[in-house]
Amino acid sequence: MDQLKRGFVLVLTAPSGGGKGVLTRHLMERVADIRFSVSTTTRPIRPGEVDGLHYYYVEKEQFEKMIHEEAFVEWAEVFGNYYGTSRHALLADLEVGWDVILDIDWQGARQIRAQMPGDVVHVAIVPPGREELHRRLTLRGQDSQEVIEKRMALAAQELSHWNEADYVVVNDRLEQACQEIEAIVRAERLKKERMARRIESLVARFG
Ligand code: 5GP
Repeated sequence: MDQLKRGFVLVLTAPSGGGKGVLTRHLMERVADIRFSVSTTTRPIRPGEVDGLHYYYVEKEQFEKMIHEEAFVEWAEVFGNYYGTSRHALLADLEVGWDVILDIDWQGARQIRAQMPGDVVHVAIVPPGREELHRRLTLRGQDSQEVIEKRMALAAQELSHWNEADYVVVNDRLEQACQEIEAIVRAERLKKERMARRIESLVARFG
């Protein structure tokens, strides 16, 4: 871990089925010092999910108490459930130099940008087309036809906010999308604001 570098928040937004999961896994495998922020949610745990790994699952009352205590740096209601990012864990990770991936919706992306503008890099992941997204959701075999239609309507809403992002990755060919998102992370790490502490100590030695 590079203590002389402050980490940044990599906000990934995409409609359900847009490929956020695969791109996140790619980054975690290929890039050092990057971690995934585990959100807290009130939605029921799905088969195959692990508490503390995919989400922290809490009751609605508990979540509302946490809102009140300002435990979240951002939170939103999606699909009738609450989702939020822990303020304390995120700030602690950034301070020691981790870059942190947030898989959140456009409402959360807006809130976090407003709170920590210099620390946020927002990438909107855009599926190559409506039919392709529908096909991916169907192939995934996770949802009923009714839920898929609901997700498609929400996809249109999520995508209408693409212009609020700093970068856009069209997830057409997966390999290319992986390379593009990796390139964004690597370039963002070299921004002078993020390098300042390290470079200042280096340059000071030149007298
Ligand atoms: P799912 O229930 O399918 O895991 O997630 C549903 C939606 O909630 C996704 O669009 C996901 O990005 C969003 N989401 C997950 N965690 C958070 C969070 O902490 N904050 C916000 N604002 N959205 C989240």
